[in-house]
Amino acid sequence: APATAIPTTQRARLTVLSGPTAVGKGTISAEMRRRRPELWISVSATTRPRRPGEVEGVHYHFVTAEQFDEMVATGQMLEWAVVHGVHRYGTPREPVERELAGGRPVLLELDLQGARQVRVAMPEARFVFLEPPTWEELVQRLVGRGTEGPEERERRLVTARQELAAVSEFDDVVVNDDVARATAELMSLMGLREQVA
Ligand code: 5GP
Repeated sequence: APATAIPTTQRARLTVLSGPTAVGKGTISAEMRRRRPELWISVSATTRPRRPGEVEGVHYHFVTAEQFDEMVATGQMLEWAVVHGVHRYGTPREPVERELAGGRPVLLELDLQGARQVRVAMPEARFVFLEPPTWEELVQRLVGRGTEGPEERERRLVTARQELAAVSEFDDVVVNDDVARATAELMSLMGLREQVA
């Protein structure tokens, strides 16, 4: 597989953050980026429509189904998956390889299917599972976010129940009880120290 062309020492700088829907992966990544600007966070491609406030190339690369097909067919995806039964999400391979080769720590924020694919391709990476403090808290966050209708929300909760059971597959577990605390824990797992401004 092309992914194995990356030397082991570089792959070790790769961290995969996974966890159920609405657990706060995006919030934690944003906080990581704010605290350590030299950390490189992958921007996924997705066929999902853009939400209000999302910016092309920052939150995602919003692509058509045809563009996504093309990226998969030409081997440009490190991993990809249909998430929550509807839209496709994938990690463009080239930027990840480029940043790892450049010696930067890299963070991928993936659903469980994606994390499993990267585990096969790059077992030296660190796999971190972000957990909600309680199931009730997770439901509250999904409802409070208000970005999904009742049907989509139900679909995501079904997936989330299954995903929570996969925690034992991961190297480390971080409980997202508090964004600042959870971010600090993830940084410490990645060997990143807080930068003093
Ligand atoms: P959302 O639609 O809420 O932005 O994301 C839905 C889910 O897709 C989240 O669980 C997120 O982690 C996952 N996801 C985002 N980008 C990728 C990707 O590149 N690959 C995979 N496998 N999952 C992704």
